[in-house]
Amino acid sequence: MWLATGPSRALDAGVNEGQSGSGASPHLCAVPGSPTGRVRLRAQIVTAGPESSPDRASPAVGRAQLPALPRSTLTVPHHCSVEAERAELREHLMGGLTGTSSRRLLAFPGECFVCGLGRSPRTGYIERGSWARDELICVRCRSIPRERCVAHVLQRIRPHWRQLRIHESSPSNRGLSKALRRAAAGYSCSQFLDGVEPGRVVDGVRCEDLQSLSFDDKTLDVVLTQDVMEHVMDPARVLSEIHRVLAPGGVHLATFPWNPDIQCSRPRAVERDGHVVHLLEPQFHGNPVGDGRSLVTWDWGADLFGYAEHAGFALTVVKLPHSRRHGIDGEYRDVFVFSRR
Ligand SMILES: [Zn+2]
Repeated sequence: MWLATGPSRALDAGVNEGQSGSGASPHLCAVPGSPTGRVRLRAQIVTAGPESSPDRASPAVGRAQLPALPRSTLTVPHHCSVEAERAELREHLMGGLTGTSSRRLLAFPGECFVCGLGRSPRTGYIERGSWARDELICVRCRSIPRERCVAHVLQRIRPHWRQLRIHESSPSNRGLSKALRRAAAGYSCSQFLDGVEPGRVVDGVRCEDLQSLSFDDKTLDVVLTQDVMEHVMDPARVLSEIHRVLAPGGVHLATFPWNPDIQCSRPRAVERDGHVVHLLEPQFHGNPVGDGRSLVTWDWGADLFGYAEHAGFALTVVKLPHSRRHGIDGEYRDVFVFSRR
């Protein structure tokens, strides 16, 4: 057994500056395969302000501390006001600078961290629906908010990412995946294809199973998973495999829904004798391959830090503040930085 620390407490505290916590919590959760005994956890949550815009107040405050993001404190130089941005949008619409469609499609100008990985970050956003996490689209690169969050964090913690060996599991054909494929010589990607041996290429697509990767030990600098970790059957094994293939100093960047109000992460479905057994009401997310949907197998809670620790990672959760101008909106904007020890 191990003791989970209080990341939710850090969240409640305002997270304007990096905060770390360690200490006792009344909640005990079990990590499959974890050693007995108490494990000291590093529950570090930082915010990374999107201060790249020239009109941001005090940009130097954030920039001065950028390179060591997982280990240092960041400050947020500017909080965007939703009201102010909506007022600005109305002004644009009234002035005819942007338009709406009959489907109440909203459009407004802004800057995109994914586009900014290439050249100019200047772009426009369209809002296709009320679920901003998936429906606030950059008109240039077609990225959605979580991709822009990851791009921002990657640029800040690994500004030399173009020279790194990056592997992405289950990429999309747009936005960040496309930008990395184009700009990083060491970028590779794979999909999980049921029944195909890891490492094999089928119709130009490399197959990998995160629970049994074909990469040699310590051969990658960055492993990227966007909304994958809630779909794996054995997350402890996945983290262990990713740790194995990362070189010392490597990072696993991830996005997935995380609810720190749930103390113990829980499986929603398990695999028994080759069959999926549902433990909770089946939930599905969209999937760019296969039948277009992917079963949610895991609800992540506060003990995520324990899973990271057990696999040999120091975990930092980076929370980007809401910023419509940067297309950062919607639920689950956390970027998880698993730093290999
Ligand atoms: Zn973009």
